[in-house]
Amino acid sequence: MTNPSDGRGKLLFTPGPLTTSRAVKEAMLQDLGSRDTAFIDTVRRIRQRLLTLAGVSQERGYEALLMQGSGTFGLEAVVSSTVPRGGRLLVLVNGAYGERIVQMTGVLGIDTRVVRYAENTPLDVAEVRQVLAEDPAITNVSAVHCETTTGLLNPVEELGAVVREAGRYFFVDAMSSFGAIPLDLEAACIDFLVTSANKCLEGVPGFSIVLARREALLATEGAARALSLDVQAQWRGLEANGQFRFTPPTHTILALEQALQELEKEGGMAGRAARYRANHAALIDGMRRLGFQVYLRPEHQSYIITSFHYPDDPRFSFGVFYERLNEKGLVIYPGKLTHADCFRIGTIGQIFTQDVERLVAAVGQVLEEMGVSMAAPSPASSS
Ligand SMILES: *Cc1c(COP(=O)(O)O)cnc(C)c1O
Repeated sequence: MTNPSDGRGKLLFTPGPLTTSRAVKEAMLQDLGSRDTAFIDTVRRIRQRLLTLAGVSQERGYEALLMQGSGTFGLEAVVSSTVPRGGRLLVLVNGAYGERIVQMTGVLGIDTRVVRYAENTPLDVAEVRQVLAEDPAITNVSAVHCETTTGLLNPVEELGAVVREAGRYFFVDAMSSFGAIPLDLEAACIDFLVTSANKCLEGVPGFSIVLARREALLATEGAARALSLDVQAQWRGLEANGQFRFTPPTHTILALEQALQELEKEGGMAGRAARYRANHAALIDGMRRLGFQVYLRPEHQSYIITSFHYPDDPRFSFGVFYERLNEKGLVIYPGKLTHADCFRIGTIGQIFTQDVERLVAAVGQVLEEMGVSMAAPSPASSS
């Protein structure tokens, strides 16, 4: 506990796990059996709440299920159990998380077509339309909503329309966006969406969330390549008796219910979006004043996480920079780019503009201690 100002402990300016509220952590101080009716009721309420957040419902043909493990387990569950045997997955890539889906298909032996874009460039909807027209073997398409590698936002609504029109199934990795960037599942023609408990929903790590269009979910019969990651079987289990097939992460599920109540109190996705947007604006403003350059163009940049170029000074060392900030209870994140030296700062989780301002002040102080000189501040941008 190194944050002297308010006793919240370290503040995480990362892509997750994130800073959570005290009430979310306290919700876990209870041992419930997996067959306890109070627990089963909680799971049922959470599944309904998640559909409401996504703008859909069971009546309108959508289902929500929870899958043990981190976000990647949810992605691998969808990849391994929704691409039909003999099907082909078109993977759209413009960052490390898109590449991770390619890696999964390699391990699983799923036939794949990969279309790659530079890490600073959004997915190209017109090209996807063309690829789908030329390649009838493609059965499913995957895209990442917010590419957390850079913070870039991909045009999933437009992509969804093109994929649906071409009669293929559309899968979106919305891990770092769901809960904070409004997305209507039906309007975006999304068949499967994966997010996790511990990003913008502000729960704690332990499971991922799969939202699915029921018809698409039913059509996956026989596609599963793993027992524990079978999304249709997981859903059938929950529907049958409200229970998980294997030990559920009971404590972290209790934490998510509290987190969802807090999200509602904040004004839902719109309210959360407003706070994160303000965090991001404070960050960009402060870091520009210090002389930092943002990696992405403002029109592609989300308010989730931001990549900054390293200062152009040999006295800068990311390791030292990170450690000095960490000692002050402020945790940032290394870059993950292939062609540029960047670090990342997240603006999501239980953090507020005054926390961001504190971080910016600490960044200025650490640079001074390191003797790093910055280029002249960049002119104010239109963002
Ligand atoms: C965080 C993240 C993941 C991976 O989630 P884990 O919980 O670390 O497994 C996948 N995709 C995106 C876009 C993410 O931001």
